[in-house]
Amino acid sequence: MPEGDTIHNAALRVGKALVGSEILEIETPHPRHRMDRWPERLAGRAVRSVDARGKHLFLRFEGDLTLHSHLRMGGKWGVYERGRRWTRSARRAWLIIRTAGHDVVQFDGPVLELMTDSRTRFDQLLAGLGPDIVADDFDERAYLARLREDDRTRAIGEALLDQRNVAGIGNIWKSEGCFMARIDPWRRTADISDDDALGIARATHPEIQRSARIGGPTQTYRPQAGRPGTWVYDRAGLPCRVCSTPILARGQGDDNRTTYWCPSCQA
Ligand SMILES: [Zn+2]
Repeated sequence: MPEGDTIHNAALRVGKALVGSEILEIETPHPRHRMDRWPERLAGRAVRSVDARGKHLFLRFEGDLTLHSHLRMGGKWGVYERGRRWTRSARRAWLIIRTAGHDVVQFDGPVLELMTDSRTRFDQLLAGLGPDIVADDFDERAYLARLREDDRTRAIGEALLDQRNVAGIGNIWKSEGCFMARIDPWRRTADISDDDALGIARATHPEIQRSARIGGPTQTYRPQAGRPGTWVYDRAGLPCRVCSTPILARGQGDDNRTTYWCPSCQA
């Protein structure tokens, strides 16, 4: 699942391709949006900016129209120089925006909506999101406040995935953040001190920001002295890089998302 860093990186790439360039054509080939008449509504409007909040991406057109996208588990934003081959099948494209230089393509949806900036829906969406862990001005106080309002019997690993507490953290950064701060992801939030909670956010923030700048965690994340690879994520059964204890993995929370941890370092 794309996490906040992947979405912020997509916003950078999409913005570079669209802002300041004339939009030649917009297509919405997916059946769900075929009748929406977005190409007509957006015709002749320039893209003012592209930004991300947590895992949400916003394409802001002139005239207070904003396209909102959320990729959920399998969606993707592709930015291709004109004439270059797309990395997913054209049949999976939900939205295509063409300029003289680029094709910008949103594949596999599944959330795509056109809204006006003043619409209540927009405010509700943003109000429901916790502070963005990728943002330069990540709001630590708001993060702590949201965490304290949440169900205190929840495990911290589960609470970190809840976008109402903190936006942008997914399965990778949940596991990595808890490891870097040496916090057991199974501890109830009631037993997590403010310092513990801040420790996770402060360890994660610079890493996820770096990843957002250079393009997603899997290729570029180098937590230990420049060597590639995660601390614990996707390393079940392999020796911990710090203490050699085998890394454990187990589904956590209502959605049973896999959490990875070192039972010794994070005891
Ligand atoms: Zn360890």
